[in-house]
Amino acid sequence: MRSDPFGGQQQQRARRPGLFGNIRWWVLLAFAGYAAFYWFSNRSVDPYTGESVLIDSSLDADQEMAMGLQAYQEILQQERPLDPNAQVSRDVRAIAERLIRKVDVVETSLAEEHGLKPAHFSRDFQWEVNVIQSDQANAFCLPGGKMAVYTGLVPVAQTQDAMAVVMGHEIAHALLRHGAQRMAQQKLTQIGQMAGAASGMDPGQQQMVMSAMGYGYLLPYARSHETQADEVGLMLAAAACFDPREAIPLWERMGQASGGQAPLEFSSTHPNPGTRIQNLQALMPKAMEYRQRFCETAGGSTAMR
Ligand SMILES: [Zn+2]
Repeated sequence: MRSDPFGGQQQQRARRPGLFGNIRWWVLLAFAGYAAFYWFSNRSVDPYTGESVLIDSSLDADQEMAMGLQAYQEILQQERPLDPNAQVSRDVRAIAERLIRKVDVVETSLAEEHGLKPAHFSRDFQWEVNVIQSDQANAFCLPGGKMAVYTGLVPVAQTQDAMAVVMGHEIAHALLRHGAQRMAQQKLTQIGQMAGAASGMDPGQQQMVMSAMGYGYLLPYARSHETQADEVGLMLAAAACFDPREAIPLWERMGQASGGQAPLEFSSTHPNPGTRIQNLQALMPKAMEYRQRFCETAGGSTAMR
């Protein structure tokens, strides 16, 4: 065996004894086996999307929620929430309550579409929503149902329907366990890094192998999470009697608003605005059907106060 598989320009490494190269291969193979084992033993099918997802089965729902709660308490200590009796707090809480009430029926319906049974994972959530004073047009929902809306989102949302679309999107991230999926993803990345270090590769070689292993799909992976959250969130908003059509002008405004300082949740990992709006338009007939099926009392559009 003359050539070092990871040689390339690294000529000095090629001078090492061939035996070392072989050991390196065995180490890599062992780690690849471990990564494959981790991958296959932690696959499950998400009832909302019908897609196969990677969630560490050793991470139970309670742990995940405890982590969400801890993060939430830290955030609330740093960024003091608005008075719960303030008008905007009451509006946001009322929207959240309407959305949360429809989680079960929407999950059941989406699961049926994929020939699956609902997991009702979120029945143990301890939902809570706070409004945080901030210029950011941002919102989040942590595992376990702890949510926040930043006041900077209010002028971008403008209407309660649009606010419901954003909050539905955030709730969907928690329902779809995207946080747990990202953690499993990070674990795989760590396995890859450990493999690289253990086999004696230098950082340049490690990076090459990582990208060959598909590490580069992290960004599109995040995008697919956004697309999923858009769909599930839109169905939630529609089922809760909000007007899903408000999603289109909302994301247009969001695109304009994020031109300056891009807030965390709506930054570059999100689909480009054109694609997102096309996706939402394609989902609109289904959303309107959900509205007809699950909304008992549709009212007119109300402005955010
Ligand atoms: Zn998102």
